[in-house]
Amino acid sequence: MPIRRALAACLAVALVTGPATAQGPSDPGESLEPMEAPPPHGIPGYPRGWPQPAAGPSASGEAEVVLTFDDGPDPDTTPIVLDILRERGLHAVFFQVGWRFRRGDLARAHAIEQRLVREGHIVGNHTVNHAKLCSVPIELGKLEVTMARGLLEQASAMPVPWFRTPYGSRCPRVEHLLGDLGLRHFHWDVDPQEWRGLGAKATAAKVIRSLHRLQGRGVLLMHDTKFATRYALPLILDWIAAENARRIKKGRPGIRIISGAQLAREQLAPTLGWLADAVNRGRRGVDAALVATVP
Ligand SMILES: [Zn+2]
Repeated sequence: MPIRRALAACLAVALVTGPATAQGPSDPGESLEPMEAPPPHGIPGYPRGWPQPAAGPSASGEAEVVLTFDDGPDPDTTPIVLDILRERGLHAVFFQVGWRFRRGDLARAHAIEQRLVREGHIVGNHTVNHAKLCSVPIELGKLEVTMARGLLEQASAMPVPWFRTPYGSRCPRVEHLLGDLGLRHFHWDVDPQEWRGLGAKATAAKVIRSLHRLQGRGVLLMHDTKFATRYALPLILDWIAAENARRIKKGRPGIRIISGAQLAREQLAPTLGWLADAVNRGRRGVDAALVATVP
């Protein structure tokens, strides 16, 4: 089918070069999570959100938090977030955009990626160009997802089975696309919306309010591309530590921070041999924390 092949080739070129609009990733300083109304779906009764709790119920029955960071890796801010997590012995899931491994300082982007995997974090797929998957043609949407996975797996030397749709878009087109690709959207429960320009203190306050009343498991969405995140994260983690001390004094369980590897063991091990494959093939960059998750 030469026409289809030609169309696919055009789409691939458009995808790799990125959109020509000001909102595209040609400006890495531009917010990649612009203010946007939920995608229109026009189907009465069609669910607008995704099921919650996003990562299932708490395995321990107690309050659990999963840290997730979107839109990186950013050469200026991601290393600072990694420093904070390393100091506190925490591990997160980073949903990344593939364009960061196509343009800009590629050596630095790859160095950050290798550090991220080496330090026990997990990489997730967030499309190549932070695509609006409810708006772009479905074939382009598929390329956004599959090409991003290829770029991220190459950069991290790890399988990238988790996917998060930009903007949390949900519509029939996205559901068909994910179904065709055998993927599932990894949603969140707490979104302080620091990407709207909220300051660090206000961001931390919003998260803390949610965590204070958290029961069961909550997935926290933040952006390692934002300086507000860099300043808010220590405030949030300090509050969790202080709150846990208060709870333990009263004989109550504290808030546990679940690592990406723990979640992978819980959610992926029964159905995917991806970690075992990675270890068996001796792929570089496989962290001891991830190796430990292989059943
Ligand atoms: Zn995003």
